[in-house]
Amino acid sequence: MIFCIEDEESIRDLMIYALNGAGFEAKGFADGVELFEALQQEKPRLIMLDIMLPGEDGISILKKLRCKEETAGIPVMMATAKGTEYDKVMGLDLGADDYLVKPFGMMEMVSRIRAVLRRTEAGHKNEPKLLHVGCLKLDPETYTVFVDGEQVQLTLKEHKLLRTFMENPRRVFTRDKLLEIVWGIEYAGETRTVDVHIATLRTKLGKCGGYIETVRGVGYRMGEGKE
Ligand code: CA
Repeated sequence: MIFCIEDEESIRDLMIYALNGAGFEAKGFADGVELFEALQQEKPRLIMLDIMLPGEDGISILKKLRCKEETAGIPVMMATAKGTEYDKVMGLDLGADDYLVKPFGMMEMVSRIRAVLRRTEAGHKNEPKLLHVGCLKLDPETYTVFVDGEQVQLTLKEHKLLRTFMENPRRVFTRDKLLEIVWGIEYAGETRTVDVHIATLRTKLGKCGGYIETVRGVGYRMGEGKE
């Protein structure tokens, strides 16, 4: 299933017609509101996303898609007009999987969609596994962390700390060991650095903060994910 978000009905119909002709199922939506409604029902293999839309524009829609766990991995192909819009979009590096410059031919669209699907769907086979504990999820490949499906912004050190715990559930790490793993063996820091980072990490993780347990006199570990 391919979702096409395009407010111009004639173009939208043409896209769906071309995709159907190429053997893809496709559905069209006129704006972000319709798209997010449809996403509650089903997850498409790819989203064709126009930038200029009534209401929420494609740039803002893409950002929303990327920060929700259920939609973060859906490949997105953005359609942009030539000129200043194109330059702006390229400059922003929004993380779309590919860009099509309007006006584009339907044959070109289909072959570019096929290429993105080949690339993204082949990649999934070797992708490092998503780490899960309770309602906490960490994606090692995209450096993203989700609490209850909502993305949490972590620094690189916080991310490494959390990943260390999540890759080794129930294992107790001493502060020295954590310094070595996260800060590097040469780091001559104080173990208090670890405590400070753990405290911030717990706060950022909100309801999942308590998953990181203090083991008195020893260090820290990842608990079983009970709140
Ligand atoms: Ca448009």
